[in-house]
Order: sequence, then C-alpha cells, then structure tokens
Amino acid sequence: MPGKNGFRVCSVIRNDDALKYSLLIAMSGKGFEDTRQAAMEAGADEFMVKPLDFDRLTALLDRFATDSPSKQLSAVTEHTGNPFVRFWGVRGSIPTPGPETVRYGGNTACVEFRGGGEIVVLDAGTGIRPLGNALAAEFAGKSLSLTILLTHSHWDHVQGFPFFQPAYDPSNRIRVLGFEGTRDSLAGIFSAQMESPFFPIGLAQMPSHLSFEELRSMEFSIGKVQVRAAFTNHPGVCVGYRLEVENTSLAYLPDHEPFHRMRNHSVIPDALKDQTKQFALAEDEKVVRFLKNVDTLILDAQFDADEYARHTGWGHSSIDDAVELALRANVRRLVLFHHDPSHDDAKIDQMVQHAQELVAKSGKKLEVEAGREGSSCNLLVTSQLGKDLGTA
Ligand SMILES: [Zn+2]
Ligand SMILES: [Zn+2]
Repeated sequence: MPGKNGFRVCSVIRNDDALKYSLLIAMSGKGFEDTRQAAMEAGADEFMVKPLDFDRLTALLDRFATDSPSKQLSAVTEHTGNPFVRFWGVRGSIPTPGPETVRYGGNTACVEFRGGGEIVVLDAGTGIRPLGNALAAEFAGKSLSLTILLTHSHWDHVQGFPFFQPAYDPSNRIRVLGFEGTRDSLAGIFSAQMESPFFPIGLAQMPSHLSFEELRSMEFSIGKVQVRAAFTNHPGVCVGYRLEVENTSLAYLPDHEPFHRMRNHSVIPDALKDQTKQFALAEDEKVVRFLKNVDTLILDAQFDADEYARHTGWGHSSIDDAVELALRANVRRLVLFHHDPSHDDAKIDQMVQHAQELVAKSGKKLEVEAGREGSSCNLLVTSQLGKDLGTA
C-alpha cells in the first residue's frame, strides 16, 4: 500500500461496524517484533513477514476457516436482556482490603456495563481482576469481545489490567479506548506499567487480540451504544463518559472536582478574580449540560465537607457538591463512587444518609446509593441497587 499506513488501515477496519469482524492478516517487509506487535495492536488477527509464504497463508486461512475468533464474536458475546451495570471496584486512589471495608469493597475503579449487545468495561482498576475471572468463567471455551473505556491513566484506573484473565486468551478481542495521556500514548501507558521492573509479563506478550485506540472525537459509538465524553476537572487528561442505549443512559465521572471550587481556592490576582470565577462557573455549567437528565450517574464523591476543605484542588468532589451537581442536572439515580481509602463501611453509610438528607431538603427527587463491590443495577429499573452477586 504505497503511501498508506497499514496499521491505520487495520485500525479503521476494526472500528467500522460493518467490517469489524473481518479476518485481517497484516503483512510487512519488516520482521521486527515491534512491527508484529503494532499490527496486532491495530487489530490484525495474524502477522506475516514478506515475501509471501503461500503454504503458511493457506495454513492460516484453513485455521481461521474452522476456528475464527472473529466469526464467533458476534454470536457469543451478544448480550441480550436489559442493560445493566455491575460494580467490581468502587474505591479511589488505592485498594483498601480489610474488615472495615468488606461491605462496600476495597478494589479500585472498575464498572462493567452491558447493553446493546456490548460489554463495556469502565476503567481497569484492581476491580478488573475479579471481573476478568467472572468473564473467563462465563465465556469458557468461547471467544469474548469487549471494550475497555478508560477515563484516565492514574493507577487506580489502570493497575488491574495486567491481572485481567481474558487478555491471556488468544481467542479474545479486547479494545482499549481512551484519550492520549499528557506524556505518553495510551498503549505506552499500559505497556509502561508492565515493564520488567514492575511486572514479569510484558504487554506485547499478552496473547489476546489487544488494540489500543486513542480517541480523537468526543462522540463515538461502540456498536449500538452511543458514547459521549467530556473533560473533567482532575489532574492530567481525564474524561467522563455518557453512554446511551435502549432508552436508558448512564454517566460515569469517577474523578471530578467542581471547577468553581478549585478556582476560588487558587491564588488569583484580584484583577482576574471575577473573570476567573465566571470562566469556572461556565465550565461547571458545561458539566451540568453533559449530565442533563441522565438516568444513572456514577460520580466522584470522595470527601465529606470537612475533608474537602483540606483537600481542595486535589481533583475530587465533596459529597455535598456531588449531590448538588446531580440535582442541577436532573439525574434520576446517583451512585456515589471513588470512596476515599480512609473511609470504612460505617463512614460510607453516613455519607449516603447525609446525601439523602440533602436531597430531601431540596424537595426534588433523586435516588442516592453508594457504589458497592459485587452489586449490580438494572439500568431500566429505578429500584435500589440490585441483588448481591456474591462476588465481592
Ligand atoms: Zn481515581
Ligand atoms: Zn485520578
């Protein structure tokens, strides 16, 4: 393909709804391991080095004819039934196992969404390890196709990935979508945390079909799921997502601090104070519009009001601000998320109660729950967060 970038071609085919289940064999004159890896990450099923070896190609085609992961994907991964979310990690910053956190859970951010025939994993904190084990059991002997949507690359959102069992199965296809980091590419960030000083297996050695796709647009779709992204107020490049499918909507903003709070806190010259405040309020209004009328909102509510006063500018919300944002956006159900590592179960209970009191005072209607590891909720139903799955 003179003048064309074959990796990009692979990636475009993989991202096209009509073509994504095609069998892709990439061929290159370069025999570097790095080239092979780049082709596989771009979505190729196999990689061959030129010149063309017809016997090897025939053998590959025979193998795919009988054993094509691509062919099986649409059939076996298809999720039918109502859209739902399941919580596998609800903690912020660092895992907090122990008797004090056993009810809400100690794993860091990971939420499973199913809807429109898709499995979408929101963030890859340590909660992705039990999710991976559950998926491996559910799809035993079958190919699995899923998308990981990443909000940002802080540890509590990527650290579980090296322990994600489906990534070690060559018949699985895993797409990782997210925005480019401030210093490194999306794939570079995942690769760096698996370099030899930190982990014994490199990213390139994971045998599944792994592709990393940097998002350029704030609106895109994953199959039938319509997704919008919005930048949140958090250190580095960080977004929240809004997913719409089958007449329901879910928003996920695990790390966010109201713009106006932080701008008040900063040392701002007097002459710019008013302008800065107006700017921050306009940014907050954009977040409200992004969340407007969403059915279920999973939102950063890391601190209580006292703690927040000591942590202004850390990129997280107080429970009071989280409730206010949900009320302003006319959200139906608010799930408190990114629990502070110092909060035990009793503290989180108190925060839920406080949030419910704030809602009662407002005179508006809003269901409030705290995200709890092992719980799930049907996105079409307004009742309390659902049954315990016994997986926590
Ligand atoms: Zn976080
Ligand atoms: Zn973060």
